[in-house]
Amino acid sequence: MKALLLSTALVLGAISRTYAQQAGKPEDTEVYEPVPKAVVGSLNQAAPPSDALVLFGGKDLNQWVMADDRNLPARWKVADGICTVDKATGNIETKKAFTNFQLHLEWRIPANISGTGQARGNSGVFLASLGKGDLGYELQIVDSYNNKTYVNGMAGSIYKQRVPLANPARKPGEWQSYDVVWTAPTFRADGTVQSPARVTVFFNGVLVQNNVELAGPTRYIGAASYEGQKGGPAPIKLQAHGDKSEPDSFRNIWVREL
Ligand code: MG
Repeated sequence: MKALLLSTALVLGAISRTYAQQAGKPEDTEVYEPVPKAVVGSLNQAAPPSDALVLFGGKDLNQWVMADDRNLPARWKVADGICTVDKATGNIETKKAFTNFQLHLEWRIPANISGTGQARGNSGVFLASLGKGDLGYELQIVDSYNNKTYVNGMAGSIYKQRVPLANPARKPGEWQSYDVVWTAPTFRADGTVQSPARVTVFFNGVLVQNNVELAGPTRYIGAASYEGQKGGPAPIKLQAHGDKSEPDSFRNIWVREL
């Protein structure tokens, strides 16, 4: 009983820290419990529907630019039908901007991945890029197969905001799929939020985010908020994370505007 009370107190402590409005340390918004249960999913290799825009079909990155300088073509590596992050070059994002959409992409943590926690195959999909660096709403990519980190930072999380409902992560070296429905936030003329962003995510065919509401763009430190946001169409961005682990790869990326 004592142990149960203690663990309940720890969980409540973690939750209250998440919602605290304090600016301060990154650790303030890390949540560790409860841990989503591991489930075995299956890779969804859906071919692009007839009305989809193919963002990466295996040959080139013509639909992408460098996120920090949109005048430059995307410089990640394309070989053998897949695209691999080039961490030295930075994030890439789509030429086109989107509002509400269905997105499919496949990603792979390399089999020889090294590092621990957030520094193990970290990348991410910014469902709406809001500019240079990591500004936007991040659906996290990181090795979550027997790799412990805060649960609101594991694969399938909306980084530091929404813990995935389950953990269907596959082993490093195996391809994995995300299928996403993104509903952009809307704002009134006076800048206040009319309807917050909503997101649904299937990870390896398993529902991990069920039409959840978001509190604002991703923040590494502090609580998310819509302060200063205007809404409108935005590119989709892929992250070149600054950790030293081996780079992730992507394939079969397509989008359907809604
Ligand atoms: Mg990331």
